[in-house]
Amino acid sequence: MSASAPTVKKALRDSGSKSVKFEEATMSSSVVCDKGHGRGLCRDAAIQISKKGKLGRCPQPGCGAQLRYLVKQQYPNVEEEYEYELVKVVRLKSDDQAEDDGFDPMLFKLVRRKSGESWLWPFYWGLNKNEKWHVGQFPPILRHTEFRKMIDEMEQP
Ligand SMILES: [Zn+2]
Repeated sequence: MSASAPTVKKALRDSGSKSVKFEEATMSSSVVCDKGHGRGLCRDAAIQISKKGKLGRCPQPGCGAQLRYLVKQQYPNVEEEYEYELVKVVRLKSDDQAEDDGFDPMLFKLVRRKSGESWLWPFYWGLNKNEKWHVGQFPPILRHTEFRKMIDEMEQP
């Protein structure tokens, strides 16, 4: 690893947001309702989307707005920040398998909020030495068959 290898920053807020800063690009993810209340951990939210197809309603008293998993990315040499919503998640492993392996690969379908275009993003969480899940810094390395399984499932309605 070079001195400029990416570092994972601490959670941005108590909502469980994670920010990963690369030399040239930044990204952050958060779970928020349409009225802006932060809620819960990103991995838990991704697992819920994989199982139920979407997140629930904001539990803040008097709110009840839709919760969303939002991803913001800033690319090298591009002024504009790109904001996406995570709308579908295919998960390769069960809860138990992921715990046993310490590796939880997923395929994300992101919709860019401004344009409505959709994108696929291979993603994973890993268990660190303190047995806490953290965001993988690079795309997961998977077998062809594993990628194919996730893409096939992603294409199911
Ligand atoms: Zn709310």
